[in-house]
Amino acid sequence: MSVQQEAEVEGEALEVWIDQDLCTGDGICAQYAPEVFELDIDGLAYVKSPQDELLQDKGATTPVPLPLLTDVIDSAKECPGECIHVRRVSDSVEVYGPDAG
Ligand code: SF4
Repeated sequence: MSVQQEAEVEGEALEVWIDQDLCTGDGICAQYAPEVFELDIDGLAYVKSPQDELLQDKGATTPVPLPLLTDVIDSAKECPGECIHVRRVSDSVEVYGPDAG
């Protein structure tokens, strides 16, 4: 992704979801961005709502707070399960993660 594209992405509202079927439970995401990701007692990572509630529905999304964007992107890049998906809210296009173009 070019610098120009990246700048455009950063101007957009983004949301993130985790595919628990592929999560290895290593907890890297929860270390990088504990405000957004948390491991549940089942050993898998889930996203949290802005109200700090664990969202356990399959494919549940939560908004990416702008100050945490870098941490969330790094989580998606480092995720060993390649199962953190960051997408634009406006058109659901994945911008970071295994399905990003
Ligand atoms: S970094 Fe990926 S594989 Fe590791 S706990 Fe988080 S979602 Fe699961």
